[in-house]
Amino acid sequence: MKYISTRGEAPELTFEEVLLTGLARDGGLYLPETWPTFSSDEIAEMQGMRYQDIAFKVMSPFVCPEIPEDDFKGLIEKAYSTFRHDAVVPLGQVDNNEWILELFHGPTLAFKDVALQLLGHLFNYVLTKRGEKITIVGATSGDTGSAAIDCVRGRDSANIFMLHPKGRVSDVQRRQMTTVIEGNVHNIAIEGDFDNCQALVKALFNDLEFRDQINLSAVNSINWARVMAQIVYYFTSAIALGAPDKKVSFSVPTGNFGDVYAGYIAKQMGLPIEQLVVATNVNDILSRTINGGEYKVGETIPTISPSMDIQVSSNFERLLFNIYDGDGAAIRNLMENLKQSGQFNIGEAQLEKAKESFVAMRVSEDETKKAIADVFENGGHLIDPHTAVGVKAARENWADKKTPMVTLSTAHPAKFPDAVKEVTGIHPELPAHMADLFDREEKFDVLSNDLEQLKKYILENL
Ligand SMILES: *Cc1c(COP(=O)(O)O)cnc(C)c1O
Repeated sequence: MKYISTRGEAPELTFEEVLLTGLARDGGLYLPETWPTFSSDEIAEMQGMRYQDIAFKVMSPFVCPEIPEDDFKGLIEKAYSTFRHDAVVPLGQVDNNEWILELFHGPTLAFKDVALQLLGHLFNYVLTKRGEKITIVGATSGDTGSAAIDCVRGRDSANIFMLHPKGRVSDVQRRQMTTVIEGNVHNIAIEGDFDNCQALVKALFNDLEFRDQINLSAVNSINWARVMAQIVYYFTSAIALGAPDKKVSFSVPTGNFGDVYAGYIAKQMGLPIEQLVVATNVNDILSRTINGGEYKVGETIPTISPSMDIQVSSNFERLLFNIYDGDGAAIRNLMENLKQSGQFNIGEAQLEKAKESFVAMRVSEDETKKAIADVFENGGHLIDPHTAVGVKAARENWADKKTPMVTLSTAHPAKFPDAVKEVTGIHPELPAHMADLFDREEKFDVLSNDLEQLKKYILENL
């Protein structure tokens, strides 16, 4: 498979190159040149298969034979052996035809593990083969950091430096990062806020000499392999609920648009998806855009679903490329408008196309809490606030109650215990393997918000 940039001015790359590159040199995001497709018969053959085997079927057209089939199978097996459920991502039922897809059984209890566990093994495989070693630097406001750390901990091929704003991430989130003691993991608490952390990371990437010196890399959400790994669970869950003979709908709590975009790809690949509901919290740039055509960046508002407190939704550029029929010049134009004025407008015909695939809704904080309460009262399920945003949007937008509706459950309730306890009165317990999280020793260093000091720290710790 060849990969092309959404902005049309970067070289075509192979899968391995795209994996290691992340952002394209023209500022765009990489996408496969074509979508592989599956016939109804081919989808029917996946019925009853293990998650790992469906994962291989769905992803191998993007990856193989560049990575030999048997090697790729091995990486998939290793990646999902860390999940604490045999089904990897089991379905739970909350009502008639209403389901929750539990994506949080990975090592850090968030759906990002599904993609990052595989990404870690892919990185390690490719780097070891090439005899290379990378330095990953990232900034986190909580969730992504622990999933990124867990995907490379203990690997010889990578060092990871994760910056978090000192005193501004929750105790569970900080401890999930700082209690990882492998030597290649370096946690840094920056005296500043999340924006300061992000600015430091950006400055490192813009320092080309330093960047080359340490072979700097990122595992951020624009990496194609992350999107690819997320396509799989749309297939496994739809097939479990009757596809290809039956259509299935999905509601997806959305921030950077990676997760719901993976659902869009699954549909392009032949999976019979009826609706894709884009569920946002009050940081609603995506629901405003899909409903009104104007993509306009606003102020970020802190919510009880913090992993979706986002104003610039990077993966949305991939959808733009698709609805503009692969016109790189049009995408460059939109992105230039965004840079100049903080907004752009989607053409009428293109917006119509987006609306054929997506419905979108903004969910308020009160509605989010109400959804946690409703689901708990009707069946005793505890759901986290991100999942609750999805459930509310699913219930409001469900076109045909005969079509199963699956809300993606993106985090374990114990990751966001305060909101869950406030609404239900129950403090959600961490799973057994993490029950001692608060007894484990923490390891991190504190640095001031200073680029030179950070560079020195990185060089000293490599
Ligand atoms: C990252 C995240 C999301 C948003 O996913 P995107 O792919 O950025 O849309 C939703 N919920 C949780 C818990 C997350 O960590």
